[in-house]
Amino acid sequence: MTPDRSLDYRDAFRAALDQVAAEKRYRVFAELERMAGRFPRALWHTEGGAREVVVWCSNDYLGMGQHPDVMAAFCERARISGVGAGGTRNISGTSHPLVALEAELADLHGKERALVFTSGFISNEATISTLAGLLPDCLILSDAFNHASMIEGVRRGRCDKRIFRHNDVEHLEDLLREAGTERPKLIAFESVYSMDGDVAPIGRICDLAERYGAMTYLDEVHAVGMYGARGGGIAERDGEAGRIDVIEGTLAKAFGCLGGYIAGDEVIVDAVRCHAPGFIFTTALPPAVAAAATASIRHLKRSPREREALARQAARTKGRLWARGLPVMASQTHIVPVLVGDPDLCKQASDRLLERHGIYIQPINFPTVPRGTERLRISPGPLHSDEMIEQLAEALDEVWQALDIPFAGGVVAAAG
Ligand SMILES: *Cc1c(COP(=O)(O)O)cnc(C)c1O
Repeated sequence: MTPDRSLDYRDAFRAALDQVAAEKRYRVFAELERMAGRFPRALWHTEGGAREVVVWCSNDYLGMGQHPDVMAAFCERARISGVGAGGTRNISGTSHPLVALEAELADLHGKERALVFTSGFISNEATISTLAGLLPDCLILSDAFNHASMIEGVRRGRCDKRIFRHNDVEHLEDLLREAGTERPKLIAFESVYSMDGDVAPIGRICDLAERYGAMTYLDEVHAVGMYGARGGGIAERDGEAGRIDVIEGTLAKAFGCLGGYIAGDEVIVDAVRCHAPGFIFTTALPPAVAAAATASIRHLKRSPREREALARQAARTKGRLWARGLPVMASQTHIVPVLVGDPDLCKQASDRLLERHGIYIQPINFPTVPRGTERLRISPGPLHSDEMIEQLAEALDEVWQALDIPFAGGVVAAAG
């Protein structure tokens, strides 16, 4: 007789879901249909049919996902090479367009070499864990607000780690001093922190890295394409790219495609290529995606127009929301976080915006942000018109009043 244990298993999963629901962070996805040429408008599919909405939380920050050059490169390459990559990079997956993409990325960051992964998540996890594994007795110093993919990399690196307070160079220096100059150290941090929109003091962190003999690993996922004269990120903008050992980025956000990458010295990148399971044992990006990403990077290297419009519309959005007393959190970048401070209200605000106003902004709750700092994270872009910004401000005002969410009373504290 075989015991029937399947019910027990299901109970465990149900309990896990109940726990999430009890904390008001059960995730509900809005089913959207993107329409090339109409972004940031999209169709929202519900049981009652489809309805047009304006998306205000896309990470396709510059609308490059629908750029004519990018779409043309994708379609043309798909016609030439078909759809799939055909294998891992070891086994028939290293395509001509993928090699060209890596050359484009190395040039973007002024590095000897770049390596493409199937996502930014994988690039962080695979690279950090591999570097940590290859450096004997490595100590990782990781910013407290680092993205989940970096945290996974640190965990899988199975070496010692210390967490420094977010963007706190004094704390970082204390930890570096404590660690001494002998052992290898890797400082892992981001340039733009995407939930608050603040920016790391890259130059000061590099000063410390040099003083204490540490390697630097910088996640520029929310900056590549958008900052720097050629879209090389905040490190390029600040003139610090040459001091960073490994720059990591994504092809999926401002570049509008899919995939992740690292750029750095030949020997570092080659070591990752030959040692990281997350690189070796998975099928390569399809040639058409690589070609589209190359077209996107090339366009943004030459064209400052999208970056200028991004800065302009982000500033306008902040200004219009401020003018209505909405609690816009301090942000130094294109990201506009608006504080709700309660997971249930945050979800309700998001629902009401969608249902009443045709505005889609996903609620951001724990564990993505600390409890009590639940927020709506708005990402205006070049394709959001002044009129859309006005409608957004009006809609938020209505929702804040209807749900009795606190408006800005004096200084609004940033999360942390
Ligand atoms: C989104 C994100 C990633 C992962 O990039 P994907 O290409 O989406 O996998 C890595 N780091 C940060 C900070 C991110 O926000």
